[in-house]
Amino acid sequence: MVPQRTDRPLRGRFAPSPSGRMHLGNLFSVLLAWLSVRAAGGVMVLRMEDLDPDRCRPEYAAQLAEDLRWLGLDWDEGYGLGGPHGPYLQSERTERYAAVFRALENRGLIYPCFCTRAERLAASAPHRSDGQAVYGGTCRSLSPRERSELSQTRRPAWRLRVPDETVIVQDGLQGGYAENLLRDCGDFILRRSDGVYAYQLAVVCDDGDMAITQVVRGRDLLDSTPRQQYLYGLLGRTPPEFYHVPLLLAPDGRRLSKRDGDLDMGALRDRYRPEEVVGRLACLAGLLDRPEPAAAAELVPLFSWGKVPKRDIILA
Ligand code: GLU
Repeated sequence: MVPQRTDRPLRGRFAPSPSGRMHLGNLFSVLLAWLSVRAAGGVMVLRMEDLDPDRCRPEYAAQLAEDLRWLGLDWDEGYGLGGPHGPYLQSERTERYAAVFRALENRGLIYPCFCTRAERLAASAPHRSDGQAVYGGTCRSLSPRERSELSQTRRPAWRLRVPDETVIVQDGLQGGYAENLLRDCGDFILRRSDGVYAYQLAVVCDDGDMAITQVVRGRDLLDSTPRQQYLYGLLGRTPPEFYHVPLLLAPDGRRLSKRDGDLDMGALRDRYRPEEVVGRLACLAGLLDRPEPAAAAELVPLFSWGKVPKRDIILA
């Protein structure tokens, strides 16, 4: 278990993408993120990760905040409240991402990639466990002339050049997790060809700027964490501690997604009281023996990371 930092107050965050309604799996992560902060007397921040203009909408963000309140999960700083580290909408932080991007570019760490999706897949190394392809490095060493020729017809994405180096993440729940940046990830995208900054860049920039010391999120993001930890190092910042919580799986073993409409917040709110939803989640989290109704605030004294399971949970 990662030791609690004593030198600075714990600051956690909710960082939802307002691209639709949260589902039960998202609620499991947000409940644990909130309990961990509240049990330690820390500060909770709500940041809307509305980077992708095609998928995110302001009305989803408003609904998300309202759904969190309905569950009894509050925050001290961020969306709707403001605070010293704003703005708290990623769509309003583009200048920050641009500044960080330029700083990395000036250090020669970023290069344009003109590959199409089909070319990338054809040239990629064996797929990683999560099904993502490792970029084969086709555009890594293009000459200036090749770059200027290619840019006549295509707008490039921008990739970070990674070294042949293993990064080890000490996750508070999952333990040690190691990846070789070059072999397991490859040079990764920091800015898409349509100009949108990538999640990996934005999340590191924001958690750093917002002085976040603890990140609690779904286990599906564990394999993004070595890349993020590497970026923290490049930017000369201390990474937060990470807790990657189990995913909730449908009875057939599939990961819950926004398509499981019967488990999204809209359907849950139609059928249950907040205490019933929270009690069920608390039971899955090992905090209650039975799924009996409980208010989020009542769970604070019961919370301990030692009780939380590590493995994904199949819903009965
Ligand atoms: N915005 C991401 C999501 O909703 C979460 C990112 C994070 O917690 O680092 O999946």
